[in-house]
Amino acid sequence: MMKYDLVIAGGGAAGLAAAASFIEEQKKNGKGETASVCILEKNDYPGRKINATGGGRCNLTNKACPGKEETLAFFRSIGIETWEDSEGRYYPYTNKASDVSKALIDAVSRSAEIKCGFTVKVISRIQPDDGSEGCFMITGMQESAMEMVFADKVLMAMGGKAGPQFGTTGDGYTIARTLGHTVTRVFPILTGIECRAEGVDFASLKGVRAKGTVILTKDGAPIVRDTGEIQFTEDGISGICVFNLTPHIKADKRERFEDALKRFKIVVDLAPDFTEKQLASRESAFGILTEKLAAVFDREEADNAAGIDGIARIKHLELDITGIKGWRDAQATFGGVALDEINMDTMESRLVPGLYFAGEIIDAQGPCGGFNLQNAWETGIKAARGIIDGEI
Ligand SMILES: Cc1cc2nc3c(=O)[nH]c(=O)nc-3n(C[C@H](O)[C@H](O)[C@H](O)COP(=O)(O)OP(=O)(O)OC[C@H]3O[C@@H](n4cnc5c(N)ncnc54)[C@H](O)[C@@H]3O)c2cc1C
Repeated sequence: MMKYDLVIAGGGAAGLAAAASFIEEQKKNGKGETASVCILEKNDYPGRKINATGGGRCNLTNKACPGKEETLAFFRSIGIETWEDSEGRYYPYTNKASDVSKALIDAVSRSAEIKCGFTVKVISRIQPDDGSEGCFMITGMQESAMEMVFADKVLMAMGGKAGPQFGTTGDGYTIARTLGHTVTRVFPILTGIECRAEGVDFASLKGVRAKGTVILTKDGAPIVRDTGEIQFTEDGISGICVFNLTPHIKADKRERFEDALKRFKIVVDLAPDFTEKQLASRESAFGILTEKLAAVFDREEADNAAGIDGIARIKHLELDITGIKGWRDAQATFGGVALDEINMDTMESRLVPGLYFAGEIIDAQGPCGGFNLQNAWETGIKAARGIIDGEI
């Protein structure tokens, strides 16, 4: 049975960045030059989710991230140049997400072993009674056979629960709990919102887009707003500005999520660049809104007698929230392994020496725009340094 110096559970953004950085650091400072590294990845190939990020372009960081420069330097070191769009989002220069995963895999595959199709099931710490150094036993399934590997140090980089079609089904949370860690309440975020509004037939508006401002209110008070492209879906709204509301739609302690939903509403301004007066001076909202969307409010305006003011509704469309799209549609997880149980400088567990965490598995999440991948690269790189400094 094989024993490695370091096993990385999960070959996604954080796991690959950690491995690449670990190998690079070893080369640079000569420490632990002979350390053996193994990545255990559930999918048939590593970096599968990376390939789907940013609509296939991989929005890998954002100018607002304090750790952005280090991320860009890291990518340059593995051959990936980047460019910044007008909103401060960074992409690989080639605009190809799969180039990012290829560069990461190339950087690690020469010096680390990558076992694909390996689903980690259990991680346990073996501590001999005689006081000698313990190690980790990692048990998993590969091609329907039980496999075991051993390691001095383990990095858990198995992601969260968002996008289970990419391999992330929350396995890391179960394992972290068995190792004594607290996992805070998790729910899907950065996803579409199901809504209802008087007089609006969402199914007929499916596919319609509009530039707008969305304001989330809780118990009648605004708590967060965002502006951008709103996309109508068959049962609600979607788009980056809508995604960014979802981390704020949460239940209080012991409150049922369905009950909490009733306290939230979304107020949409579908013409933020125009005043109500300007709208009223037009014959139709068409030209500011697309034809299908304009027709909804033009009809209401014409039928003003029914007491519905179409123009006022363009500026103030109140939506009841009926649900949040599930894990399959979500781009990130809210919640995860409790941060106060992790040394955030080294990413080492404060409870289990030699155990490290990186990426979405921890209770850290950001809005759309490169913040979640930044968290993955940054914590992966920190963990690599922490492992080296902890003398492997
Ligand atoms: C469609 C989509 C688009 C996105 N776009 C962006 C974007 O443009 N910018 C941005 O910042 N963020 C984006 N995100 C979020 C971002 O991809 C994640 O936050 C990030 O990938 C998390 O990195 P990670 O390494 O923690 O997890 P992941 O990248 O999810 O990797 C975890 C890996 O662990 C493996 N694994 C899980 N369980 C096991 C197990 N039991 N055994 C072995 N392996 C296991 C998984 O197969 C996976 O490969 C997007 C997410 C999605 C779903």
